[in-house]
Amino acid sequence: MILTEQTNKQIIFLKPAFRQMVWGGDRLGREWHYEIPDSNTGECWGVSAHPNGDCTVREGRYAGEALSALWEKHPELFGNTGLDRFPLLVKIIDARADLSIQVHPDDAYAGIHENGSLGKSECWYVLACDEDSRLIIGHNAKDRAELVEMIRQGRWQELIREIPVKKGDFIRIEPGTVHAIKGGIMVMELQQSSDITYRVYDYGRLVDGKPRELHIDKSIDVITVPAARIEDTIVKADELPQNVMNLLCACACFRIWKADVTRTVTFEQAYPFLIMSVIEGKGTVNGQAVRKGDHFILPDGFGEVVMEGNMQVIASTI
Ligand code: ZN
Repeated sequence: MILTEQTNKQIIFLKPAFRQMVWGGDRLGREWHYEIPDSNTGECWGVSAHPNGDCTVREGRYAGEALSALWEKHPELFGNTGLDRFPLLVKIIDARADLSIQVHPDDAYAGIHENGSLGKSECWYVLACDEDSRLIIGHNAKDRAELVEMIRQGRWQELIREIPVKKGDFIRIEPGTVHAIKGGIMVMELQQSSDITYRVYDYGRLVDGKPRELHIDKSIDVITVPAARIEDTIVKADELPQNVMNLLCACACFRIWKADVTRTVTFEQAYPFLIMSVIEGKGTVNGQAVRKGDHFILPDGFGEVVMEGNMQVIASTI
């Protein structure tokens, strides 16, 4: 018998990268069983080929390879997209304290002003939050003149739009949307592979005795005015039909699904590649054990996917 390793049938499991943040906590260790570097760990980069946090392959034929290197050397695993970099980044964020209020540019603005970087479109899935948790999404200025005036005069309470959120809320943050995660919330963030953030306001906090840098002019350049309506940005994704792939978002940057698995779920991997993250419970994917906190990629040509167990999975692709 000739042993052929069918590489496109292998699941690519990834080892996350972690980032310590002034606002980070220890829940990624306590509740997600990651080996976190310290008790101020703000972000787990579960699927990333970004130079600021490049994941490595955990096991199998490509064990130890960086995802960025795998993307370069084996474009066939990712559907030969011709893209110059792995386009997506999947994070789990533990906000012990409020994050600064920020905005991201789109591809066009970032390409010109940030050295060819991608812009950043992102989505959040609320994994856990306190009873009365709130997020900042959008603002209340009616036109750019009012936006500039409110920012220059520091009228943050008036400007910022805070909204209540619940576990299972799925939120689209288009480039140009003012946003911030507040303390006590854990989210999964799915985004373009970019690290370009303009800080609008940081609550006047000091870090090591100094305020963190703000990027007021660039923020004013890119903030969308007026802000998108809140009902157009949030999908309630807590109790969706079980045992199917529920599409949460399909836009120019990504497609995202959620599956609540309680019995066998079968579907075809029909995309250039499919990222999967287990956010609750455990089970199997094509017979391989997976559990909460696992992130992996099903390559191009993977074929039929069979999920079993008792788990929630978020899947994404371009
Ligand atoms: Zn952001």
